Amino acid sequence: MRPQLISILVANLLVASPLAFAEDGDLQWSGSVTAGARYVDDKVDDPSKLNEYRELGSGGTGIFSVSGHVEKPGNYELPLGLPFPELLAVAGGMRGGRKLKAVIPGGSSCPVVPAEKMMTLTMDFDTVKAAGSGLGTCATIVMDETTCMVKTLRRLARFYHAESCGQCTPCREGTGWLHRVLTRIIDGNGTKADIDMLVDVANKIEGHTICALGDAAAWPVQSFIKHFRHEFEYMVEHKGRSIVDDLESQAA
Ligand code: SF4
Repeated sequence: MRPQLISILVANLLVASPLAFAEDGDLQWSGSVTAGARYVDDKVDDPSKLNEYRELGSGGTGIFSVSGHVEKPGNYELPLGLPFPELLAVAGGMRGGRKLKAVIPGGSSCPVVPAEKMMTLTMDFDTVKAAGSGLGTCATIVMDETTCMVKTLRRLARFYHAESCGQCTPCREGTGWLHRVLTRIIDGNGTKADIDMLVDVANKIEGHTICALGDAAAWPVQSFIKHFRHEFEYMVEHKGRSIVDDLESQAA
C-alpha cells in the first residue's frame, strides 16, 4: 500500500510562482526558478479514486503552485478538493513556525481569504468561490503574521498597473490611480477618505473593462480592504507606519 502523499520525481524542475516576500513584508517579484517537487498520492495514481472529491464540485487533480511564507514553496500535483491544511502541510508548513495570516488561493487576482476561514476550506472551485474568492490557477500565496497587507496590496496594484494595455479607460486610469493612492498612504500622506476612494475606484473598474485584467486589478483591492481595513486605517493614522512593524517592535 502506498503511503499517503509520497514525494516522487523531485528532479523535475518546475517553475514556481516568482512572488516572494522581502524582509520588510513587501511582496517582491523575484523572477527566480525554484526546483519543484511533484507530490502524488494513491488517488492520483489510481484513476478510479480521482473523483473522490467530486461531490465537493471538482474532480481530478490540480497543480498547486504554493508560494510565500511556507517552508517548501513549489508545484504540487494533488487531488482537487483536498483540505487546505493538508496542502499547507505538503508545502512544509508555515516558514519558521509562524502564524498564518491570510491566503490568496488561486493567483494574485483572486480575493484574499483570512486565515481562520482558509483553514476550514477545501481546495476545489465551488468551495473557494463560496468563500468569496476563487481557485483560479491554483497559484496559492501564503502570508504569515509578519505580512503588511497595505504594502502587499501596493505590490499587487503596481503589477496590474504595469500590465494594463491601456485600451479601456477604467483599467488604464484606474490601475494607476490605485497604485498612486496606496503609495500615498504608505508614504504617510494618506487620509481615511483615500481608503474609501480605493474601494470606489476598484468598484468602477470591476465589470467595466474589455478583458478580465480590470476585474483582476479590482478584486485584491476590494478584498484586502474588506478583511484588513484596520491595517489601512492604522497606517493613515500613524503617517505611514505599518501596524505589523509596530506590533513586532513592541513584542521585541
Ligand atoms: S481591461 Fe484589458 S483590454 Fe482593458 S485596458 Fe486593461 S488590459 Fe487592456
